[in-house]
Amino acid sequence: MSKHFLSKLTGSFATPALENPTGVMMEAAYRDLGLDWRYINCDIQPEDLKNAVLGAKAMNWRGFNCSIPHKVSVIDHLDELGESARIIGAVNTVVNRDGKLVGENTDGRGFVESVKSSLELTNKRVVLFGAGGAARAVAVELALAGVAHITIVNRNQERGEELSKLVADNTSAGAEYHAWTKQYQIPAETDLVINVTSIGLFPNVDAELDIDTESIKSSMVVADGIFNPPETRLIQTAKTKGCTTVNGLGMLVQQGAIAFEYWTGKTPSIEVMKAALSDALCVTDL
Ligand code: NDP
Repeated sequence: MSKHFLSKLTGSFATPALENPTGVMMEAAYRDLGLDWRYINCDIQPEDLKNAVLGAKAMNWRGFNCSIPHKVSVIDHLDELGESARIIGAVNTVVNRDGKLVGENTDGRGFVESVKSSLELTNKRVVLFGAGGAARAVAVELALAGVAHITIVNRNQERGEELSKLVADNTSAGAEYHAWTKQYQIPAETDLVINVTSIGLFPNVDAELDIDTESIKSSMVVADGIFNPPETRLIQTAKTKGCTTVNGLGMLVQQGAIAFEYWTGKTPSIEVMKAALSDALCVTDL
């Protein structure tokens, strides 16, 4: 029997990279399917991104994730873009297809997958906080998944208006920007509230969104993109109001599972990925 000692390589390019647990769940899923694949977590500075991408290509990496701050700048070094990455204008997953590097975006689809079991999205009304890279991905994919309307609430007006225009111009969902100048009142008819800002992200875990908490109703599903910590202040408040809540760990697992499928053509076990992640992060509510 001939043995092979050449693993297929995938990984992540980001900085900081120290606290990125993606490799743990990816390698658990590779092992589970008996795949001789590796996931290498790399700390890449902006000025080194081009060489990192060329290096991955030279070493025939099967693909890689990009995170802060490379999601937009990596596009200059790729051969093609998939449809949602093109609309979103950012890439979190690069796939090596027959030697061509193709940029995809799985963040938004990952979020949609993570929230689906808590809410049927068709015709729903959404309030989304944030207009950065992840918010763009989440807003576009929610719109493509059939929500009726998205209100974008963001500190920076230009970015917020640009995102609402992006959604309105490219999808059938309605979208509007709402200035975040004072405590935001969530409209009572809202079905889904999502934080896709970095407010509350480790280490600033006590930071809170400027929302009138009286306007959070128990009928609303409240989600947070932040996975570290899984239980943000927003999630804690929503729980006390009786809301169904969705933390950012589900999005992390689901966006990774979609990347896994792009790279390997196989469907990973979500349960194996969740178990590996909860072990690594010492959390139980995945
Ligand atoms: P960006 O830097 O692109 O965007 C940051 C967003 O947060 C902007 O909308 C920014 O507003 C807003 N923001 C930051 N600080 C403040 C503040 N003090 N007050 C008001 N608004 C603020 O980051 P990303 O879009 O890449 O990431 C956003 C979040 O999503 C992060 O917490 C990240 O961890 C999470 N994420 C989770 C993933 C998962 O798998 N669970 C995947 C990807 C991201 P402004 O435009 O006004 O600056």
